[in-house]
Amino acid sequence: MPVIESIYCKLMTFNSYLGNEKMEAFMSTHTINGVTLALLQGNIAEVQADAIVNAANKGLAGGGGVDGAIHRAAGPSIIEECRKIGGCPTGSAVATTAGNLKAKYIFHAVGPIYGYSDGDERLLTSAYQSCLNLAEQHKIKSIAFPSLSTGAYGYPITLAAPIALRTVIEHIKKPTSLQQVIFVLFGQSTYQKFEQALAKLLAA
Ligand code: ADP
Repeated sequence: MPVIESIYCKLMTFNSYLGNEKMEAFMSTHTINGVTLALLQGNIAEVQADAIVNAANKGLAGGGGVDGAIHRAAGPSIIEECRKIGGCPTGSAVATTAGNLKAKYIFHAVGPIYGYSDGDERLLTSAYQSCLNLAEQHKIKSIAFPSLSTGAYGYPITLAAPIALRTVIEHIKKPTSLQQVIFVLFGQSTYQKFEQALAKLLAA
């Protein structure tokens, strides 16, 4: 039986002027077979981990959302590395260095555009799994994920969150180099939907 412990806390209260709304940031941590799974409300470009996962596109061409935030923080050497790699199929991921980020790697993962093909769930699972495989390959201890595909790519969070969490939980139940997996979720609503999905998975 996997050992699961959970700690929920209000991380901090701060004023965020997104829509002039005062927002609170939260995090929770859960220990699954000795690996910490954390959910954090925040900006992934500001999080420290050995690998930061980018929500990339097939051309690795840069874009808005997570991609824009990561490339802005990491600096121009990363888009140059991406150009040399040339691209990445949907459902897969490639590694680059991390430029100015305090990380060893950026894993550029390409999730599916929701409703574009029959294989949405398979491709989203595979995008997360490819990052976890890269983590094992590079023997890293910590990895930070955004919620892949749920911005410009339109995947409903209520469907995507359990897929993301299940893929990670199944992975960390097996022997792994990872000690910490962090989901960095933009905004309270996304954070809460991940919390709800995780509570359901842990109760099952
Ligand atoms: P995709 O194209 O894969 O849908 P996006 O970057 O458009 O990727 O959005 C993916 C998710 O990441 C969305 O839920 C979005 O709100 C969120 N997001 C956007 N910017 C950031 C950020 N800086 N840190 C963490 N999450 C972010």
